[in-house]
Amino acid sequence: MYKPTLDYAQQLDKEDKLAHLRAQFHIPKDKDGNDWLYFTGNSLGLQPKQTQQYIQQELDDWAKYGVEGHFEARNPWMPYHEFLTNSMAKIVGAKPLEVVVMNTLTTNLHLLMVSFYQPTKTKYKIVIESDAFPSDRYAVQSQLKFHGFDTEDGLIEWKPREGEELLRIEDLEKIVDEQGDEIALLLIGGVNYYTGQYLDIKRIVEIGHAKNCMVGIDLAHGAGNISPELHDSGVDFAAWCTYKYLNSGPGSLAGLFVHEKHAHNKELPRFAGWWNHNKETRFNMRQPFDVMPGAEGWQLSNPPILSMAAIRASLDMFEEVGMEALRAKSEKLTGYFEYLINQIDTDRIKIITPSNPKERGCQLSIQVKNADKSLHKKLTENNIITDWREPDVIRCAPVPMYNSFEDVYRMVEKLKELL
Ligand SMILES: *Cc1c(COP(=O)(O)O)cnc(C)c1O
Repeated sequence: MYKPTLDYAQQLDKEDKLAHLRAQFHIPKDKDGNDWLYFTGNSLGLQPKQTQQYIQQELDDWAKYGVEGHFEARNPWMPYHEFLTNSMAKIVGAKPLEVVVMNTLTTNLHLLMVSFYQPTKTKYKIVIESDAFPSDRYAVQSQLKFHGFDTEDGLIEWKPREGEELLRIEDLEKIVDEQGDEIALLLIGGVNYYTGQYLDIKRIVEIGHAKNCMVGIDLAHGAGNISPELHDSGVDFAAWCTYKYLNSGPGSLAGLFVHEKHAHNKELPRFAGWWNHNKETRFNMRQPFDVMPGAEGWQLSNPPILSMAAIRASLDMFEEVGMEALRAKSEKLTGYFEYLINQIDTDRIKIITPSNPKERGCQLSIQVKNADKSLHKKLTENNIITDWREPDVIRCAPVPMYNSFEDVYRMVEKLKELL
C-alpha cells in the first residue's frame, strides 16, 4: 500500500513509465523559478512544448503559400480537420465516422439539439443534472424557450438525495419511469464538473432509450480523462471541449460525436453551411445542399487551422501514450492523493468525489468545513493552483500527463499546514 512520505512519492515517480512526459510541457513557475503545483488541468490544460512548432508550421505555410496552402501546405488545410479524427475517435471510444472537431462546446450542443431535440406538444421535457455546468443549463433552457416551452415546466433536474452530494442512477431511472412519456431528451455530464463523479453512460442510455428519449452526453470533463466508449454505449450524441484535459489551448475547438446509427439519416433536421455539404461537389458551388454522412455532416464553416494545429500537437501525444496507460497512472496518482488526504488528522475534510476509481476520473473535490475563499487564496500564494467552488469545495485534478506523485505529496503537506 501507499506510504505518506516524500521518499515514497519520489520512488513512485521513479517507477512511473510516463514520468518523462512532464518535461514535454511548459510548467508555470514562480518568480524564483520553482514549478507551480498545477492542479487545474480540468479547467485549462498546460501547453505541450511542441504546440508552438505545430502552429508555427501553419503560419509559415500561410506566409509561403497564401490561399494555395489549402492544397500546398505540408498539412493541407482543406482536409486538415480529418487529420484529427482518428486520434480523437480513439480517445472517446468512437468510430472515425462518428467524430469531428469543430466549433466550441456550447455551440456544438446547440447544433446537436437542433437535430436531436425534436419536441412534440406532449413529449418535450429535458432532463439535466441539478449540478449541471451553467452553460449546459442555459443551453437547454434556451432550447426549451426557442420551441415555445416554459423553462420551469420543461426542465427536470436529476438531484442528489437530501444530505448527499452524488447522483444515484436509480433516481434517474425513477424520473424516466414516471415521466418518460413527457421527456424528449436526457443531456447529462458524463463526468460531473463539480463532484468529479463519472456516471455510467451505458446505463443512462438504456434508461433513456427504454422510454424513447434521446440521450446526449457532455464530455467536457471526460475527454482525455476517462475512457467513455461512446460507440458501445449507444449514446445518440456527445460533445466536449479540448482545452481541459486535451491540452489544446484557451478557447480551442470542441469535439462532436454522433452515433453511427444516425450517420446516414439525411432526414434529421439540421443547420447547414458549405462545410457539411458533400466534399466532392463543394466547390462546384450552386449545387443543391447534399449533406455529408457522419459527424462531418454537422460542420458549417471551414475551420480555424491555427487552433487545429494546437489540437494536433496534443493529440499526437495522446496517440503516442494511449488512454490505457494514462488511465492506469491516473488511478494510481489520484489514489495516492486520496490516501494522503485521508491521512490528515482532522474532521474538517470530506472528499465528495466517489472513492471507487471506476466512478471518477482524476479530479477530487474536497470539501473543507468552515473554510472560505481565503484558504484557496493561501494555497495560490504558495504556488498551488486549484479551483474554488463556493461555499467550501476545492477541486483538484492531478493530471497523469504532467503531474507527479511528488506534486500530490507537496500539495497535501501544504494543505495540512494551512488547516
Ligand atoms: C467547460 C465546460 C463548458 C464550457 O463551454 P464552452 O462552450 O467551451 O465555453 C460547458 N459545459 C461543461 C460541462 C463544461 O465543463
